[in-house]
Amino acid sequence: MEHGFIAWAKQRAMRLPKVKLGIGDDCALIASDGSDWVVTTDSLCEGTHFILDECGPQAVGRKLVGVNLSDLASMAASPVAVFLSLCLPRKSADLIGAEIYEGVCQACEKYNVAIGGGDTNVWDGPLVVHLTAVGTASQAGCWLRSGANPGDKIVVSGRLGGSLLGKHLEFEPRLHLAKALHPLGIVQAATDISDGLGVDLLNMTVASRCGAEVDLDLIPISDAAVERSKTTGHTALEHAIGDGEDFELLMAVDPSRIDLLPKSIDGVPLTVIGTFVSRTGLWSRSKGGVMQMQPRGYVHG
Ligand SMILES: [Mg+2]
Repeated sequence: MEHGFIAWAKQRAMRLPKVKLGIGDDCALIASDGSDWVVTTDSLCEGTHFILDECGPQAVGRKLVGVNLSDLASMAASPVAVFLSLCLPRKSADLIGAEIYEGVCQACEKYNVAIGGGDTNVWDGPLVVHLTAVGTASQAGCWLRSGANPGDKIVVSGRLGGSLLGKHLEFEPRLHLAKALHPLGIVQAATDISDGLGVDLLNMTVASRCGAEVDLDLIPISDAAVERSKTTGHTALEHAIGDGEDFELLMAVDPSRIDLLPKSIDGVPLTVIGTFVSRTGLWSRSKGGVMQMQPRGYVHG
């Protein structure tokens, strides 16, 4: 969604002290007597986020849970329950509804999350699905987008780009990584990569009132990005920067304790790709020197 709308919505909404963090991060943070509640919501629309005839409704259900859990992971929260709302196309509502629900159940069982409730509607439009996920914050607090400082190292999990070839449907929300990294106390800020490395890094720098300098040679490029580059006219690096839906973690790590950062966790690499800097904006460093970096990886023609 446009930044202008989000900025307006944030300013327009009534504020209450119980809402410790509202519109603008991966999740909201709601105060409680015990652990704070961490809440997020996401929708998937047929034709935009999935092609139903190609992937089938169960994969839609699994993806819907995955994208929400990825947001909880980016705040280092532990998932508790999800709430599902379906807008089903009239002609095959019962069948599609049951299959999506099966996919949601499979994903919830995998991550030990309860289904707390939901709503179903039938209409004449395409399939649209919504999920709200609720988790608990760790006693040591949550990762926010706004905590990066100049000097912090930019770290990404996994390999980036080309998710359209399959990963956008079947991915691992990085709950396990967050759980392993959070107690180390070295991550200052985090988000998940849903809009693409460039865009999500830019969002992090804006929230943190700083800039970022990325070493292009260090960005971990997925095999799928290389594969995509053979047919799209863009380089694999451009796909790694610009493609969305990697659902990897993007973090700011304290440089004085970077030695504590594992090289990988359960086979998922953690890679330093640059440094947050005081000069605002996105910058790329390569053999050609430092240049302004396009958040989408390339200039749209
Ligand atoms: Mg997110």
